[in-house]
Amino acid sequence: MTRTYRITLLPGDGIGPEITGVAVAVLKAAGQQLDVAFEFKEALIGGAAIDATGGPLPEETLDACRDCDAVMLAAIGGYKWDTLPSDIRPERGLLGLRAGLGLFANLRPAQILPQLIDASTLQRDVVEGVDIMVVRELTGGIYFGEPSGIFETESGARRGVSTMVYGEDEIDRIAKVAFKTAQQRQGRLCSVDKANVLAVSRLWRDRLTTLGKDYSDVDLSHLYVDNAAMQLVRAPKQFDTIVTGNLFGDVLSDVAAMLTGSIGMLPSASLGEPGQPGVFEPVHGSAPDIAGQDKANPLAQVLSAAMMCRYGLELPEVSDSIEAAVNSVLDQGYRTGDIMAEGMTPVGCQAMGDALLKALETSK
Ligand code: NAD
Repeated sequence: MTRTYRITLLPGDGIGPEITGVAVAVLKAAGQQLDVAFEFKEALIGGAAIDATGGPLPEETLDACRDCDAVMLAAIGGYKWDTLPSDIRPERGLLGLRAGLGLFANLRPAQILPQLIDASTLQRDVVEGVDIMVVRELTGGIYFGEPSGIFETESGARRGVSTMVYGEDEIDRIAKVAFKTAQQRQGRLCSVDKANVLAVSRLWRDRLTTLGKDYSDVDLSHLYVDNAAMQLVRAPKQFDTIVTGNLFGDVLSDVAAMLTGSIGMLPSASLGEPGQPGVFEPVHGSAPDIAGQDKANPLAQVLSAAMMCRYGLELPEVSDSIEAAVNSVLDQGYRTGDIMAEGMTPVGCQAMGDALLKALETSK
């Protein structure tokens, strides 16, 4: 019997509609082969929503995102909206979506695909085989802690204050996502903190250690953030799954991503409470410099669709099939401009989509 999933699509701005078109076609084709159907409902976000409604996240969009099985987002923003006041800028749409869906866990994979190994700035033997997942806490920590602001002291000098704070409940819920993610991977979880200096990190480490006893199949380790940053560029293959707070995760997920060297290849997932829809989107932005020119690499969007199947819909078989198609087109030498290398076949966004569909067809 066919299982049906309802997806809210947010193509957004710039290259968003082009790459979303490819990802939808790939999802449909991969689903069909495994008796899975996807129903898509498109909604406005970012600049496109500002033009149509005056705001970056219309109420109907948030309603559509709450009332579905998963949200597939492309990217928002562009030159046209750069001069708007900050409260109605396209980025506000993203923040509103995260808050509105309670997305507290951000999953950022950094995997070196053998076909693209030379895109990395690090030596081949250091990065070959790297496959890391960074689980970052997204709605707490120093980005949201109070007090926060620039205050004037009695002497008239100013003091900038940001507060790093985590409650046990916030730590526990991100830790559980991380342990479960590690269980779906190689079963190794490294928790990154600064427990030698920060009290908030000591609580973080204490909760991770305590919860770790419930996940005896996961091998838990701890690193200080400065050491973790060094190890990521020195010997990245030692990592499987990393869990960390908002600030450290912001930095480390970008370091891990750049081990791969190609922004057009990086997907991400943002998850809330179990049973609530997650948001799946590429790491890159709306690339207004190449929008509408059929130059965009759709693979990060396609891999985000694969993450949606694995982490949002519990359809690992569809995810496997999409990832195999991506591998196949790269094996065949197809490359968009951002990942082009000597001897490879240059293709545009559409042609890359066609190649993916063909790869799925021949894998039947
Ligand atoms: P960007 O990621 O859009 O582009 C950076 C560079 O990478 C550009 O040269 C672009 O052409 C290239 N690039 C990005 N994605 C590509 C792809 N799929 N295929 C081929 N090349 C690709 O970042 P930016 O230029 O700093 O920002 C552009 C706009 O995107 C801004 O308005 C920014 O606010 C917005 N943005 C949105 C998100 C998001 O929606 N999550 C994230 C970052 C930036």
